[in-house]
Amino acid sequence: MYEGAIQDLIDELGRLPGIGPKSAQRLAFHVLAADPTDVRRLAQTLLRVKDVVKFCSICFNVAEDDKCRICRDARRSDEVLCVVEEPKDVVAIERTNEFRGRYHVLGGAINPLEGVGPDNLRIRELMTRLSQGDVKELILATDPNTEGEATATYLALLVKPMGITVSRLASGLPVGGDLEYADEITLGRAFEGRRTI
Ligand SMILES: [Zn+2]
Repeated sequence: MYEGAIQDLIDELGRLPGIGPKSAQRLAFHVLAADPTDVRRLAQTLLRVKDVVKFCSICFNVAEDDKCRICRDARRSDEVLCVVEEPKDVVAIERTNEFRGRYHVLGGAINPLEGVGPDNLRIRELMTRLSQGDVKELILATDPNTEGEATATYLALLVKPMGITVSRLASGLPVGGDLEYADEITLGRAFEGRRTI
């Protein structure tokens, strides 16, 4: 529709999740009108995130070191482990201030239609962590949708024979929704009201 660089930018922005053609166009013209210093900072931040950000070698949360901030924190309990799909879910749960244990980030949820099976997630690494014997309770905080439920059920079957208490976040979370969009109060209540499965 447009020519050259502006259309390239619209196309690139349009490839981002949740950005439709209209939004891509609006963002592209925002960039065009913006201060060159701001645009340069955005471009450098985009490049830096790929260079600097790694995944924590223990929990697979995003980290700038070998271990993330949460895994490095000696004040947190090793006895409770919360399993989430993505790093953004760690942030959502941390905002509630309800949880002082550790996390394990799976990197997604079981989704046969998209070709995502247990081997594509960090389930083997989770089992290795659990076999070390510190964890007494495993909280399954996968999203309250079909894929998240399937993943929680799969993990519960795998982990229960190890004698670890397995719990799932309580209802109150919108079914079919995304954990990251739940407000702090709803998510906090769901945490307190988690039930053993
Ligand atoms: Zn970590």
